[in-house]
Amino acid sequence: MTVKKLNVLLFAALVSLLGVVAMQVYWVQNAFHLKEEQFNKSVGIAMKTVLNRILELNTDENLRRIALREPCMNEKTKITDVIPPRLLDSLIRTEFKCLKVTKGYEYAVFNKVNKRIVMGNYTHYTKEILQSDFQQSVDALYKPGSYFLSIYFPQKKAGVFMQLFGWMVLSAIFLIAVAMSFWLTIRTVYQQKKWSEMKTDFINNMTHEFKTPISTIGVASEMLLKDEISKDIARTKKYASVILSENLRLQNQVEQVLQSAILEKGDVKLRLKSTDIHKLIHQTVENFQFRINEKKGSLVTSLEAHDYMVVVDRHHIINVLANLIDNAIKYSVNAPSIVVSSTSNKHHAIVRVADEGIGISKEDQKHIFKNLYRVHTGDVHDVKGFGIGLFYVYKILELHGGRIELESEPGKGSVFSMYLPLNHLTTTSDE
Ligand code: ADP
Repeated sequence: MTVKKLNVLLFAALVSLLGVVAMQVYWVQNAFHLKEEQFNKSVGIAMKTVLNRILELNTDENLRRIALREPCMNEKTKITDVIPPRLLDSLIRTEFKCLKVTKGYEYAVFNKVNKRIVMGNYTHYTKEILQSDFQQSVDALYKPGSYFLSIYFPQKKAGVFMQLFGWMVLSAIFLIAVAMSFWLTIRTVYQQKKWSEMKTDFINNMTHEFKTPISTIGVASEMLLKDEISKDIARTKKYASVILSENLRLQNQVEQVLQSAILEKGDVKLRLKSTDIHKLIHQTVENFQFRINEKKGSLVTSLEAHDYMVVVDRHHIINVLANLIDNAIKYSVNAPSIVVSSTSNKHHAIVRVADEGIGISKEDQKHIFKNLYRVHTGDVHDVKGFGIGLFYVYKILELHGGRIELESEPGKGSVFSMYLPLNHLTTTSDE
């Protein structure tokens, strides 16, 4: 898939995801309003029911009074006679219990003309009760047009919100799950793409690297087959040695590729031996002096570790050191200037390979130890390689219970620090 197609797909998926989020928010808002409306209606019905019940009870009483022929009954009666406060309270309580509202409301019966409250159950919200949306006239019971029953719910919105809370949490969880799986899928696709590009680069590099020794061997073999050369022992030896050294180069390259495959699988078995790390450093540095001299550079050691006996697989640790020194040479633009030093602390012998080469950016430092990862240096400093050297370094040190650290600044150089644990286990030493 091309980057353009992938970006279009990513954009489409992102827009869809945002659409789903917007729809979800819209539906939750809608549900909130519906619930609120439903609650308002239920409260209205409950208030009417309360007043009807009082009316029913009053009618019986009035009938009794009428039977007794009491004159001007309406004028003489007080509102508390018609609407007994205790009865009102108990009826409101009962009705609201059915609505699952047991607390958090205040009510009062008040005179709309002079705003005087005549009864009720209120403490904090007198003003709010007088302006509440929930008001019912008590016309049918007492002096039409003047008295109203009013109820105020200070936590109405919170109550409705709590009713929807479970659903909102559920939809948030599902949305987060969808967003996360979307993000993981996109990330995996990009990683796969990067990985496949790295593999293609690797195959191209490998083919290129293998082509040179193969063609050199071919030319040298052709020369050996010529009669005048096979009679000349000196020239025969020269071509034979070219074939040998190119063959060795090929072998090393194949070995490197195989090693990385084995490390990737995690099948490496270490042959641990107690080792003087300083000796190992001297030995490895020696092998590079010829190349350094050729490039008119310098490779010096500064070995100051007090604890220098470590338990390691010598073959692999030499390779690790060689990889680091080889890179320090490869990635120096001018004559390489390399220092291999050692120190030790309570737990580790630390070997540092420092160069003044091209350095590595912070972004690349995050990926540098991954298999097949190579920094794209462009045309400025196009160095050949497979991108498996530092992966090997990382894995081998990890298998030893150690680690590798990197400090680097582009244009200034790099310092790779190998941490080898000072393991004082009894192991064979054949130094
Ligand atoms: P290779 O050298 O074969 O490409 P490595 O795994 O050894 O593979 O290194 C990975 C990348 O890290 C290299 O492509 C290079 O860009 C960068 N690198 C490694 N060592 C150095 C160094 N000493 N200075 C600058 N860049 C380095």
